[in-house]
Parts: sequence; C-alpha cells; structure tokens
Amino acid sequence: MTAGPVSPVTGDQLAPWAARDDRSRGRRHPEPAPHYRGQFQRDRDRIIHSAAFRRLEYKTQVFVNHEGDLFRTRLTHSIEVAQIARSIARALRLNEDLTEAIALAHDLGHTPFGHAGQDALNQCLRDHGGFEHNFQSLRVVDRLEHRYAAFRGLNLTFETREGILKHCSPARARGLGELGRRFLDGGQPGLESQLTNLADEIAYNSHDVDDGLRAGLLDIDGLCSTRLFGSQYETVRRLHPDLAPRRTVHEVVRRIIDRQVVDLIETSRQRIEAVRPEDIEAVRRLPEPLIAFSTDMQDQNRELKHFLHEHLYRHYRVHRMSVKAGRVINALFEAFVVDPRLLPDEARDHARELEREKGATGLARGVADYIAGMTDRYAIAEYERVYNPRELT
Ligand code: MG
Repeated sequence: MTAGPVSPVTGDQLAPWAARDDRSRGRRHPEPAPHYRGQFQRDRDRIIHSAAFRRLEYKTQVFVNHEGDLFRTRLTHSIEVAQIARSIARALRLNEDLTEAIALAHDLGHTPFGHAGQDALNQCLRDHGGFEHNFQSLRVVDRLEHRYAAFRGLNLTFETREGILKHCSPARARGLGELGRRFLDGGQPGLESQLTNLADEIAYNSHDVDDGLRAGLLDIDGLCSTRLFGSQYETVRRLHPDLAPRRTVHEVVRRIIDRQVVDLIETSRQRIEAVRPEDIEAVRRLPEPLIAFSTDMQDQNRELKHFLHEHLYRHYRVHRMSVKAGRVINALFEAFVVDPRLLPDEARDHARELEREKGATGLARGVADYIAGMTDRYAIAEYERVYNPRELT
C-alpha cells in the first residue's frame, strides 16, 4: 500500500484484527446500546465529560502548571496523543473511536506535579500497596468518578479499560479478573491499545524537546548530538536557512513526529501482514506486540529519551520543583492520614468508607485518591490551608 490520505474507517472497512464494538467484551454493568453512537464513542464521550478529564488542564507534564502558559499540560498532552494515535489507527484500518477513548483517558490517574508527585505518593503508600498511575487511571474510570445513576464509575467497555491499563503489577492484576490476565499469563492487549502506548511516547518525546527549548533548559547544540533531532535540524536548516529560531524548532519537532509516525505505521503494517491474526482475540494471544517501530527508529528514540533524562528531567530547575512537589504531597498525606477530619466532607466519607473495608490500608488509599485527584495549584492551595496559620479556611 502506498502512503496517501486515508478516509475515516468504519464498520466493514475495519481490518479483521481491529476492535469492533459489535464484538466488544462489553461493560461490567450491561446497558442498552447508545443511539446514533458506537460503544467506543460513548466511552470517549463519558471520559470527556468526567471531572478527572477537566482537571488534566491544571496538571503538570514536566513543568509545573503555573510556570508558563505555553507549556504542555496533561490535557494538551492527552489531546496530542489522541491526534497522533488516531492518524496511526486510521492508516492501519484500526478502530479510531476506541483509540481516541484510550488516548484521552490514559493519564486520568496522574497525580499533581507529574512524576515527582507520583513518586512521592508511591513512597507514602509503600506499606499499603504503593501507587501506580496506570492503575489509578483505571480506578478513576471504574470507581472514583461517581456521577451516573445506575452504576459506579464510567462503566467503560473492556477494550477501553484494557488500553488504559498499560502496566500492572502481578499483585494488582490478580484482583482484576479477565482484565489483569495478560499481566499474569502473558499475551497482548488489542492493537488500538498497543498503538496508543507508542503514540504517547512519540508525543512526550517531541513536546518535551519543544518545551525544554522554550524554557531554556535544553539547547540546540546538545540536541543535535541525538540522531533524531540532529538529522531533522540539518534538513530544516538546509531547506530554510533564514527561518527564525522558534519556527525552525517547530519545523524540526513536527518532522520528528512525522518520521516516527510514518516509521510506526509502515513497520506495524508489515508485522501485521506477516501474521494476519484472525481477529482481536488472536492478537491478544500473540507473544509479541504487532505495533512497533523499526529497530533503527527504536534506537533513535532511545537515544533521544536518554538525552531528555540526562538534560531535562534531571536539570536542577526541574529537580528543585520536584523536591518541593514531593514535600507538598508528603505533608498533605501525613496530615490527612493522622487526622482524617481535616479532609473535606466528600473526601472524608470516601476515605472512611475504604477504612471500614480495609482498615489503615483503606484509609491510606482513600487519602491517596483525594491527593491524586488534585491539580497542581489545588495541591499548593490545600497545603497552605492545612499548614499556614494565616489561612483560615
Ligand atoms: Mg501520557
């Protein structure tokens, strides 16, 4: 097949190995089929209407939300992932609606302050099973969003939940029934899940380059030591030698995304054609994922990731923010676990309910659910309200 524009893929045009809503493994609580929408469109819509989705706007990706208006947040990141993932899904005749739902939901369980927040919360919960953001995303859609009359959570389809749960420890997987099985017995999720996972990687590697340059934490010379950035930078400079620096960066970043997307589509197409699984169930039984980069692109990706780790995520300015974020999370956790009456009513009722079910571990989990749901600025404000005697509310 040659590269070219691809029209939306629906119904009979879907590849045999794509997810189909008429063959979905269904929802935990059976519901009548939606009018004028497919099952995965319904999932996407429920995700967009959730409170957790709106909070993504004020949660950090790498930079804390108030550092500047132009940096990515979890919301814009999720939208970028959805955009990239949908292009890949459509080109491979996979289910675009399901792909979009997974992409928009994949970060719902993220704590405030990015990875620093997650590490801190994981540490707080070390004696109570730890904290994993993927599992928390599933917890958000399965339990914590509490708004529909007939069920708890968003009651999403198996396929969307399968995509949200990217990683899972065996201990947790055992409690998840069918959904946890692949983490215990091996096997793969559907192709829509596999591709969204890699679209996430494409999105954050490229936008962290862009944001890192904008913040002045990365420089072009350093980035040119990576093949992925270096080769595209050279091309753009050759084609447009007089282009202003900001436009040059944008041109390079969009080419980096494009190179990766094209590589992923073409490599995956070959891998799928070599196996031609009968349906999504056959995809799930395979020992290896079918959606993958070429070996060369995988190496180039690893190189860029390594560069970002060394120069951006470990930059002292990012680290300072991470340390402060960790203190805020630790202090809030400590205060609420010691005296749950400091929690607002709804959060306290939730924590008490879990405490009745599982004692101290339940209480710790309930407090973690409250903290994980906070936006960056809410966490800082809550810290002030709990610890600063001048704040009276
Ligand atoms: Mg992500």
